[in-house]
Amino acid sequence: MDRIALAYLDIKQAIPSNVTLVAVSKFHPASSILSLYNAGCRDFGESRVQELLEKKKELPSDIRWHFIGHLQTNKVKELVPFVHLIHSVDSVRLLSEINKEAVKQQIVVDCLLQVHIAKEETKFGFSPVELETQASQFVSKFPNVKIRGVMAMASNTDDEKVINSEFASVNSVFRSLKTLPNITSGFDILSSGMSGDYKFAIANGSSMVRIGSLLFGERN
Ligand SMILES: *Cc1c(COP(=O)(O)O)cnc(C)c1O
Repeated sequence: MDRIALAYLDIKQAIPSNVTLVAVSKFHPASSILSLYNAGCRDFGESRVQELLEKKKELPSDIRWHFIGHLQTNKVKELVPFVHLIHSVDSVRLLSEINKEAVKQQIVVDCLLQVHIAKEETKFGFSPVELETQASQFVSKFPNVKIRGVMAMASNTDDEKVINSEFASVNSVFRSLKTLPNITSGFDILSSGMSGDYKFAIANGSSMVRIGSLLFGERN
């Protein structure tokens, strides 16, 4: 068994069976993805549409492709027909574009609303207050987008207290959105946690972790 497959089995053992592991394969070649596929992984995450499309051509068709990067509206059309879940819906404009394309293509697209929790100014996403006041409207306004939950990133810090409190905030946003009118039973995904912090995320209710470097090694 190769190194990537072994890392996969290690992580699978470290996370509860009800937490989905998305292998973040950005910047890694299709051959590495295939190693993981052969070890049993079917969920892969990419952050650029062009890169995803190129890899998809070379790889088995039963892979569930997750989109986790900032998505430009002009790329939505190519992604929508096959994407399994868009984690990174970070604006009303993007929601509207995804809905428009989904209506055109007569499909429903599963999406997560990205919530901005970390202190860093550069992170994309809605604020907790924006979500609490607008999420119900999103559901009625954009019927071909199925909002399945929320996605978040914690601050890039070694301070475990900060990480824990950010993931706890995300979890509380998730649970409060769940009780809003219009949010249906399909609202059940909390995508939080990466290589460095997934244990804290899981301790704070994560149901989907996005792991790259722990599986594939460092990116160039
Ligand atoms: C790159 C990336 C990850 C994976 O990061 P690692 O630290 O390599 O596990 C997870 N989520 C998002 C949104 C990313 O862009």
